[in-house]
Formats: sequence, C-alpha cells, structure tokens
Amino acid sequence: MREVNQYDSHLKPTWCPGCGNFGIFTALKEALAQLKIKPHKVAIVTDVGCSGNNADFFKAYTLHALHGRALPPAAGIKLANHQLTVLAIIGDGGCYGEGLTHLINLMRGNHDITVLVHNNHLYSLTTGQYSPTTPKGTVTKSTPDGSIEVPLNPVALGLANQAAFVARGYAFSQEHLKSTLTKAIRHVGFSLVDILQPCVTFDKNQTAAWYQERVFKLKKKFSSRQEAFTEALREDKLGLGIFWQEKRPAYHQELKVLEGKPLIAKPIEKVNLGKLIEEFI
Ligand code: SF4
Repeated sequence: MREVNQYDSHLKPTWCPGCGNFGIFTALKEALAQLKIKPHKVAIVTDVGCSGNNADFFKAYTLHALHGRALPPAAGIKLANHQLTVLAIIGDGGCYGEGLTHLINLMRGNHDITVLVHNNHLYSLTTGQYSPTTPKGTVTKSTPDGSIEVPLNPVALGLANQAAFVARGYAFSQEHLKSTLTKAIRHVGFSLVDILQPCVTFDKNQTAAWYQERVFKLKKKFSSRQEAFTEALREDKLGLGIFWQEKRPAYHQELKVLEGKPLIAKPIEKVNLGKLIEEFI
C-alpha cells in the first residue's frame, strides 16, 4: 500500500472533474504521510459544502458538522484528547460567514487545530451564491446586479487577530501546498491555511488561468506581523506560503487539568448529578 492510500476510505471523491478539492485532498494525505501520523491518530471535522464531503473520503476519525460549526467540535476533540492531530476542513462560506465568530475566538485561544479553508469565493454546493470572499461586483445567482460588499481578507484577518500560524495555499500548486500543510500540522497552536480553490463549475472569473497570473511563492520570512500584513493587503498579486508563525503555548497546554494524561485517560470522578441538577431546577 502506498503511504498516502492509508488515509483513503472505501468511498471515492465525487467532486466535479477538475475541481480544486482534488489537489487539496492529495496534498493533505501526503502531508500526513510525511509526518508519519497514522489514520487512527487523526481527527477531521468538516463543515457543510463541497469540501465537507471529505468526511466520507478520509479514513480517520471524521465528523461532518453543521454549517459554519466545524471549529467548535474540533476544539472540543482536542481538549478531550490532545494526543490526536485535529484538523478542520471548511469552506469560505462556513468559516468566514456563519462560523466567523468561532474562527476569531479559536485564534485568540490558540487552540491546537489546523484549519484548512477551501476558499473558492462562492457557496458552491448550493450552486454558486456569493460568499464573504467574493470580489465586489461579482454577478452570482444571489447577486444578479453584482455583489455590493467588499471581500473579507482571510490572511489579513488572521494576522490582525493574533493567529499563531497564518498561511495561504493554492489547490493547483500541490507540492507547495503539501509543504505548507506539513508545517501547519506540525505547528503546535492554531494554524489557519487559507487555500485558493478554483470552482471550475460555478466560478467563470477566478479560473486557473486567472490565478496563474497572480500567485507566486513567498520568498522572504517576514520579521513582524506588520510587515506580513502589508503583503497580505496586496491586491495585484497573491503570495503563497507562510505569512506568520510564532511559538506560544496552545490552549490545552495552559489548562492545568490536562497536565499529564489527556482528559479521556483520566479516571472519571463520582459526581452527585442529583445535587447538581437540583441547583438548576
Ligand atoms: Fe468543486 Fe465547484 Fe464542483 Fe463543488 S461545485 S465540487 S467546488 S467544482
């Protein structure tokens, strides 16, 4: 068996031919194989959307969460068993729309999870409505006269909101994405990887050719968040790679109750539930 195949379930991906999801799927399996993390040591929480179907295609502990709610269960799994590698796979709608509060607060808490945002600038599963990252003026099914809001900048948001690891990847730059994901998973603390993921079916503007003219690999290591922020605000070009990484204790490392064994391995104390319930009724 090839090392990457160990993460394949018995189901084959059903995405549209040519979808950027395929590149991310492979890059993630290659990153896990390179890090020698066995499937039973990986927990993946997915959101609703085309990327959410990863829950069926991965052989690991997977949970297909409610729309916009993939991040809280991911944080909960990490607190219950911090020996697991915990990943969240989520689209731009779920992460930057319905679930934005979760993203902001998990960044601040530095929960040790890696968040892979499949950013195709649309709600694609529901056939192409505009999302928080859709460029202003884009005509979609839900914005027939062009979208009015300016798009959210995920990398700038992560940098401004104290995320310990912020990176951008591109689905069609698979080897580079694998390298970025390897570093993000190895990083202890919150990792945001915003992945540009062309939707070949519903996005006729941001095509592979459009991206090809704009993406480039970041060469320098930024010396401050401010410097990285300036690069993140660029509109003419889209840098790929790590914008910022800093070492600081992860949430579970600051909890005294989790010292030693993970929570699931600690003995369950006898609790008088009746007394507890009485307090609330
Ligand atoms: Fe991929 Fe778009 Fe098809 Fe969804 S609709 S599977 S994002 S190409």
